[in-house]
Amino acid sequence: MHDHHTQLTGGYRRADGLPVPTLRNARTVEGHLVDVHIADGRVTDVVAARGAPVSAGDLDLTGYLLLTAPAEPHAHLDKALSFDEIRPPMGDLGAAIAAWEAHTPQLTVDDIARRARRAALRALSNGTTALRSHVNLLRGDDPLRGVRALVRVRAELADVMDIQLVALVPHGVGDDAVHAALDLGVDLVGGHPHQTPDPAGNLRRLLGLAEERGVGVDMHTDERLDPTMLTLEQLAHAVRDWPASMPVTAGHCVSLGTAAPDVVARVTAAVAAAGIGVVTLPITNLYLQGRDHPAATPRGLTAVRALLDAGVTLAGGADNVRDPYNPMGRSDALETAMLLVTAAHMTPVEAYRAVTGSAREVMSLPPAGPEAGAQADLLAIRATGLEDAIAAAPPDRFVLHRGRLVASGRSERSTIAGLVE
Ligand SMILES: [Zn+2]
Repeated sequence: MHDHHTQLTGGYRRADGLPVPTLRNARTVEGHLVDVHIADGRVTDVVAARGAPVSAGDLDLTGYLLLTAPAEPHAHLDKALSFDEIRPPMGDLGAAIAAWEAHTPQLTVDDIARRARRAALRALSNGTTALRSHVNLLRGDDPLRGVRALVRVRAELADVMDIQLVALVPHGVGDDAVHAALDLGVDLVGGHPHQTPDPAGNLRRLLGLAEERGVGVDMHTDERLDPTMLTLEQLAHAVRDWPASMPVTAGHCVSLGTAAPDVVARVTAAVAAAGIGVVTLPITNLYLQGRDHPAATPRGLTAVRALLDAGVTLAGGADNVRDPYNPMGRSDALETAMLLVTAAHMTPVEAYRAVTGSAREVMSLPPAGPEAGAQADLLAIRATGLEDAIAAAPPDRFVLHRGRLVASGRSERSTIAGLVE
């Protein structure tokens, strides 16, 4: 059996979609060498590696660090990888929105789906096995082009990754389009109240739509540096009594990062009490925010430490990848984790939790990782430890989704002066 495997001991195996019964000789974050047994998509046992021969079908992870697979809690697959066709000027959030909206009339379902699929597979190849994407409802005659594209891509990739969709409802798009998006299979209601003329009224409208349909919400929240813009607090009070079946997520929360300590304490307590998950998005905030502060330029991130101290589930995401909102990005959660360490002063362990366990929690997904009982969504990466993995982010990776090998990569480097280690 399994004679079609191409496993080499300690070597490379091309992703084949087959279940991997045992991972051998993997290094854990704590530095132990372990064998990990997997059955029916779950980790059944993690035991000290005993140097047993590697059987056909097993994966020898000698030299690899074994991690929980990342989850991306906030993407925009409909916009991703559009930078090169739009060639927008560099600028702030307003400029990015203007560039995107000028481009939207020519978007087709096929174009959106092609870019979205490329972006999703880049994320998967880097280890991301679950992804939540916002999808804009578009102004004009056919507001659901993005929705139809992303519903199609989600179905095409359903065997290899879990994709959730949020309807991003701009000011001026009516309720009918929101209902139609939910009817097509979009999971959550979202929007960006801070971008509308009446943020409090817009927030009430979107929450009302979610209540009518019994679904959760994921709001772009207070994505600006104005400390008086605190729709996050209104959101926290409005959803305090919502059931767990209607999960609530707030992305960005930039203005909270500029508020006075007493305000931060009051708002973070309300957010914790309401059970809202917060998603911080360092690469896009660093790019878009603070452009009118040439000196001591603010980083534009939310109040990360205060939220963690208040017990809020804090996840990290990339937001935009190579589009008018962010020309950079490689669809790699390790890039987000690196920025959480350098720009948000999280520890490497906190940063990696933000892009894995906390992201899954925000997304209402069951726990994953190299622990007995957890879903076998795993990332093995050639690295000596967590800091090394986050810093170097090598392409040498194996990605398991529900125990199946769904992606792998390898690199080769040489110098005439010696080995690159
Ligand atoms: Zn976003």
